[in-house]
Amino acid sequence: MNIHEYQAKALLRDYGAPVSDGRIVLKSEDAKTAAAELDGPVWVVKAQIHAGGRGKGHFKENEAGEKGGVRIAKSVGEAAEEAERMLGRTLVTHQTGAAGKQVNRIYIEDGAGIETELYLALLVDRATSRVSFVCSTEGGMDIEEVAAETPEKILSFSVDPATGYQPYHGRRIAFMLGLTGGQVKQCVKLMGTLYKMFLEKDMEMLEINPLIVTTGGDLKCLDAKMGFDGNAVYRHPDIAQLRDESEEDPKELAASKYDLNYIALDGEIGCMVNGAGLAMATMDIIKLYGAEPANFLDVGGGATTEKVTEAFKIITSDPNVKGILVNIFGGIMRCDVIAEGVVTAVKEVGLQVPLVVRLEGTNVEKGKEIINTSGLNVIAADDLKDGAEKIVKAVKG
Ligand code: ADP
Ligand code: MG
Repeated sequence: MNIHEYQAKALLRDYGAPVSDGRIVLKSEDAKTAAAELDGPVWVVKAQIHAGGRGKGHFKENEAGEKGGVRIAKSVGEAAEEAERMLGRTLVTHQTGAAGKQVNRIYIEDGAGIETELYLALLVDRATSRVSFVCSTEGGMDIEEVAAETPEKILSFSVDPATGYQPYHGRRIAFMLGLTGGQVKQCVKLMGTLYKMFLEKDMEMLEINPLIVTTGGDLKCLDAKMGFDGNAVYRHPDIAQLRDESEEDPKELAASKYDLNYIALDGEIGCMVNGAGLAMATMDIIKLYGAEPANFLDVGGGATTEKVTEAFKIITSDPNVKGILVNIFGGIMRCDVIAEGVVTAVKEVGLQVPLVVRLEGTNVEKGKEIINTSGLNVIAADDLKDGAEKIVKAVKG
């Protein structure tokens, strides 16, 4: 689960990490009051969307010219104008895809004097099963680009959970970043704070890009991106309430309401499968036959007809879906329940695309009978290979 920059900064502030003062604005008429509460003389107006690259982004309907999602203002009035201009518009960055994201919240922040921009991140390193620090002198840039072109400018190491964070970890980062004097001390303290938050809040990712040295010589977190382990959010009601559903894929949101394991992808074949492993295998075999899956979906073991109907609706609501493959190996899941769900859903939402159904396992005969007597135009398949071949053929000819 991801949160907005201003929420991440509030959390950083709570933990005592250095951030600028700022105000969140939801309605343009509040922008002026918000900006006036800050000191100035420079204000930074920042679009709040769950995507990075806002500074270099542009707005979709482009009446106001090529303007980024991070704007500097020299007066309260100018800050309010920038906020008004951004609210409600769609910002496109290299992380949003071409569709962009609507800007519904604006963060107005005190402008900081920047000496240098650095990169810092903490993440869960799956290879070592530890929390890793990643830092670089090349802040403000895309870290992927730095990694590809100048990997020597990135320092990355993991922390042994048996010792936890130690001051030498912070000093190692400070020296890599070229910090001196009191900055080293600040860095050791800040890294310890970030490590503590990361563990306490069950984060998956914490990125400060840029971490800056101010013109006054102090460290400050100028941007903040946080991702939390979705399976642990239940332990943190304070984090759970920061969820902004308008930032999520509406299909994934609907799926989460019905407790369906659904992930939207960009392909053309919708998949309804039971079991995560079989769902992965189904996606693989679709690719093997030359098409791309439109989603990952595991309807789970104890799915009801209602749940299957919802799953089917979510799949068909994706305009990219040109065909659907239902692949059920009924163990706990009964084939007749799936069949009933599919038939109910098709009758409810209609079927504009080819549908291939492969059923096997518990109550398979009953399931096949429900499909065969439903009067629906369903292509039956015998096994996984047959199902994949048939749906790809139906879609691609
Ligand atoms: P994004 O990564 O989405 O582009 P950032 O928050 O990193 O957004 O902002 C982009 C750039 O804008 C930063 O690298 C920094 O140069 C500048 N910037 C952001 N916030 C401030 C601020 N409070 N004061 C001064 N400059 C800022
Ligand atoms: Mg940034």
